[in-house]
Amino acid sequence: MDKNISEILFLLGENHDEWNNAVAPPIYQTSNFCFPDVSSFRNAFRQEKEKPLYTRGVNPTTSLLRQKLAALEGTEDALVLSSGAAAIAAAVINKVKQGDHVLCVQHPYSWTNTLLTKHLARFGVSHTFADACDTAHFLSHVQPETKVIYLESPNSITFELQDLKTIAAFAKEKGIVTICDNSYASTLGQSPAALGIDIVVHSATKYLNGHSDTVAGVICASKENIQSILGSEFLTLGAICSPMEAWLILRGMRTLQLRVERSSSTAHTIFQWLKTRSEIEKIYFPHDPKNKQYDLARSQMHFSGGLLSVCLKASSIQQMEKFSNTLEYFRMAVSWGGYESLQLPVCTFYHNENERHHLPWNMVRFYFGLEDADVLIRDLENAFSQWKS
Ligand SMILES: *Cc1c(COP(=O)(O)O)cnc(C)c1O
Repeated sequence: MDKNISEILFLLGENHDEWNNAVAPPIYQTSNFCFPDVSSFRNAFRQEKEKPLYTRGVNPTTSLLRQKLAALEGTEDALVLSSGAAAIAAAVINKVKQGDHVLCVQHPYSWTNTLLTKHLARFGVSHTFADACDTAHFLSHVQPETKVIYLESPNSITFELQDLKTIAAFAKEKGIVTICDNSYASTLGQSPAALGIDIVVHSATKYLNGHSDTVAGVICASKENIQSILGSEFLTLGAICSPMEAWLILRGMRTLQLRVERSSSTAHTIFQWLKTRSEIEKIYFPHDPKNKQYDLARSQMHFSGGLLSVCLKASSIQQMEKFSNTLEYFRMAVSWGGYESLQLPVCTFYHNENERHHLPWNMVRFYFGLEDADVLIRDLENAFSQWKS
């Protein structure tokens, strides 16, 4: 990796002299900023999108976070919002108007799906969801009205990848904006902007914050795109990240590399162990050499990340429930990216085995956190030993 992560995370934008030599950045927990005379107040209004005037626009704590995120993602600028969902909505809405069309990966994050199907549809923006594993097939759904191609690589739960470079090059030629949700790989695992993607979005709730104590979102893009979103969706919808939350993310990001490396390496260790288990029907893991997208995963993503899904050879939902209920370390919860390992049993969304759902009832998504891999393996082993009783 050619980015100097240590420099970005500790030095970039940090002026310790100005902070009374504080090692940790201070929090500017203030709603507004005051000025000594009319002339400087007038200037502050003129520069509302660049300098502190009011915290719904610019705040020094969030500005520091924005600067570091842009450097990590390799874009000119970044914005921080109140959630990943807010970041996704602001980025997409900024690029469409009535009559436009959005081409989207088949199974994006559920609230991205709702944004397109429930909200934008009401305002005359149409969409197509299409399988993007086959790039040519995916791009065959582009229409003359297509203004945005929305990607999520890998996507949630089944971890299908898209060939970001090829799709970005195609879109550029047609004047279509590409947006990619990069939450899974974090800013360290994958650099969509370097592959030509215009706008990169993140749920900072996951790896970036990394402590299961904050909800926030990020948009990384060119200065022009960020200024456009800031001046419109950001200031009008007002879904800002508070200074306190921005500070928590800055705190969390100091250990981003350590945490992501640990979580990825535990995922690899447990992946190897799961492969030896007779209870497993199928493993969903981008860095599985047997995965048909393995070469793409290796070329696009620097590491696997700590998420993995499995389908188990279970005979009933009841048996799946027994397995999940027996696990002690893998708490049942949505989200991921903190210390704690988590499980999302898909049977939660089922009442019986015959229901139709794009995810099978015998699937569980795991997030491997920062606990010892041995402890987690013992927990899984114990659940397997008891699930048939
Ligand atoms: C969690 C998540 C989101 C939504 O982020 P919030 O911070 O929960 O609003 C979007 N995309 C992906 C891939 C996610 O995992």
